[in-house]
Amino acid sequence: MMILEMQPFRGCHVFNATVTTQTPAHHAILGSLLGTAVGDAIGLPYEGLSRRRGVRLFGEPNRHHFVFRGGMVSDDTEHTCIVLQALIASGGDVEVFGSQLAWGLRWWLLGLPAGIGLATLKASVKLWCGFSHRTSGVFSAGNGPAMRSAILGAAVEELSLLQSLVVVSTRITHTDPKAAYGALAVALAARLARTHSPVSGTQYLEELRSFLPKDVDHSFLESIERAVHSANAGESTVSFAQSQGWEKGVSGYVYNTVPIVIHAWLQNQGDLASGVGAVIRCGGDTDTTAAIVGGIIGAHVGKEGIPADWLNGLYEWPRTVRWIEQLAEAQSEGRKTPPLPAVGLLVRNALFFVVVLGHLVRRLLPPY
Ligand SMILES: [Mg+2]
Repeated sequence: MMILEMQPFRGCHVFNATVTTQTPAHHAILGSLLGTAVGDAIGLPYEGLSRRRGVRLFGEPNRHHFVFRGGMVSDDTEHTCIVLQALIASGGDVEVFGSQLAWGLRWWLLGLPAGIGLATLKASVKLWCGFSHRTSGVFSAGNGPAMRSAILGAAVEELSLLQSLVVVSTRITHTDPKAAYGALAVALAARLARTHSPVSGTQYLEELRSFLPKDVDHSFLESIERAVHSANAGESTVSFAQSQGWEKGVSGYVYNTVPIVIHAWLQNQGDLASGVGAVIRCGGDTDTTAAIVGGIIGAHVGKEGIPADWLNGLYEWPRTVRWIEQLAEAQSEGRKTPPLPAVGLLVRNALFFVVVLGHLVRRLLPPY
């Protein structure tokens, strides 16, 4: 478990404070943030539905369906932004990153989010009860940590620092080592997406074996190997999901979520819309699978590779596309993160909750 030990890391460059916003790092960070947001928003109406029912209710996942022709984001995007905010505040110090992330999650909980995983809820309550980021996690192998890891891969160059940050980000809510394996696999994919084009499945597997802890659960590596071999053989992501017995949808168990994401990424490295659509068509935890795929592919294609109508259709305030751009600029230029109005977030979350209720009622009605 050497890698999973938390190692305070001081004095390392996470980013270059003198660079301009036109650097490859900025391109990757902004693309990953916005890719996460559009994947989350496009996938959200399909969340928890089977492959068949999702398409019957909303048609193909190629545009927003959450509020008329618009979309809103959920915890996947919010946590991704909180992780980047913590990274900016930490300057690459792992210990500071952990405590900043803890505060981010505490305040996020007070915003009364409509969607929250059970482990994240328990851990956030523990954080308010005085537990530190080192002791707040609960034993769970949910995909919460994986959903906020792509941004770390897009933003952090150095592998040992990336490992430490991902592990801290994981353990704050999830202590089952499986959750860390999944989060590390996502972070590595985003890092490779940023630096190489295209990435072969074989190269990814090779780097993953050395990136994961030495005592990694072999069944996790085998699940990724199956995804890579299927993607190499040209099998569609939906067919791969069916071959794994996930006909009713891909669950939030990290050993299901991450292989499907890696499959869709490997087959759609230059096409964010296709990658996002591929995982949503599998059904299940679609906002999270699509957010992660969007975050990985976005690190490669940048904002320019995201369909303009997907970005324009984000009905978000105060976390607007412009605010996300300012967050990416803050990271690239070593500035403070742009503020968000607390009352605005509460109002936004109340409206979001109403729309979610509308979707729950809609699901009771045909077509089934
Ligand atoms: Mg979500």
